[in-house]
Amino acid sequence: MKMSSNAIEEISIEDLKGVGPAIAEKLRENGYYTANAIAVSSPKEISSVTGIGESVIQKIIIDARSKLNIGFETAGELLEKRQNIIRFTTGSNNLDEILNGGIETRAIYEAFGEFRTGKTQIAHQLCITVQLPIDVGGIEGAACYIDSEGTFRPERLLQILNRYPQLDPKKALDNVFYCRAYNSDHQQLIVDKLSSLIEEKNIKLIVVDSIISHFRSEYIGRGTLSDRQQKLNRFIHKLLQLSEAHNLAVYITNQVQSSPGVFFGDPTVPTGGNVIAHASTYRLYLRKSKANKRIAKLIDSPCLPEAEAIFSITENGIED
Ligand code: ADP
Ligand code: MG
Repeated sequence: MKMSSNAIEEISIEDLKGVGPAIAEKLRENGYYTANAIAVSSPKEISSVTGIGESVIQKIIIDARSKLNIGFETAGELLEKRQNIIRFTTGSNNLDEILNGGIETRAIYEAFGEFRTGKTQIAHQLCITVQLPIDVGGIEGAACYIDSEGTFRPERLLQILNRYPQLDPKKALDNVFYCRAYNSDHQQLIVDKLSSLIEEKNIKLIVVDSIISHFRSEYIGRGTLSDRQQKLNRFIHKLLQLSEAHNLAVYITNQVQSSPGVFFGDPTVPTGGNVIAHASTYRLYLRKSKANKRIAKLIDSPCLPEAEAIFSITENGIED
């Protein structure tokens, strides 16, 4: 089932000035299916993946932007657009509660925390719950899993699926599109080419586990930091763009480091600095508690209060 799509996505690329059949085909091949996807991209970006000249693309983008009336919107219009946001459950009522009902589209969720705090387990769980029928808390979408740490396990999805008789296990596994990212450039390339898969398979969740590990190991030392941040910025903005253009949710995991300047309280801070902090809509700080219990703390949310939830990691996945 096709989920509620944004009305502005319905302008076809052929309706844009300068787009003939040959250019339309090239754009589509590279994942630019809608006027909206073009309007939110830069000439350089589209030109580098399609091979079409930057000046040609520039004109097409200008037309797409004018047709889509991009610029100022009234709060009323924005509210109407935000009505397209849909939510799905995390599998834990406690966690859903601090997240205002679950994971929503048009947002980036970042989970950070030490090793074994449940970041990857939540990633597996969401790949299943996003697929659930609407009446049991899902949005009937597919998932795409970008794995930079090699910790994805389809067997784990099967275990979690035992809990949801509403889903056919074989079909559910076929709805999770997996890609191992081998380095940071590869990771960027994967998201640059993702639009066509998203449209074709009705992807409503993109997982990146973790966003940072390749960047951290490839850029070592002070001198390389600004270069790293720039590349990280480009990566996360592509995710942001996909989440808006296709009305989908993004879940990224992040590692932690010890902040030397903190003498009181918890010195654990997420890596990636301001680049990740600014782009994430919701940040969840995960900590261990007794046995299989974990504590998730919601921080820095644009419209929700700081709050904590306790959940468990069990054979069933994530639950209360
Ligand atoms: P990280 O934050 O490092 O990504 P994970 O999400 O991999 O951590 O969480 C690891 C935790 O999940 C471990 O404590 C492990 O015991 C638990 N876990 C993993 N698989 C299962 C399972 N099948 N049943 C119960 N607990 C599990
Ligand atoms: Mg992990």
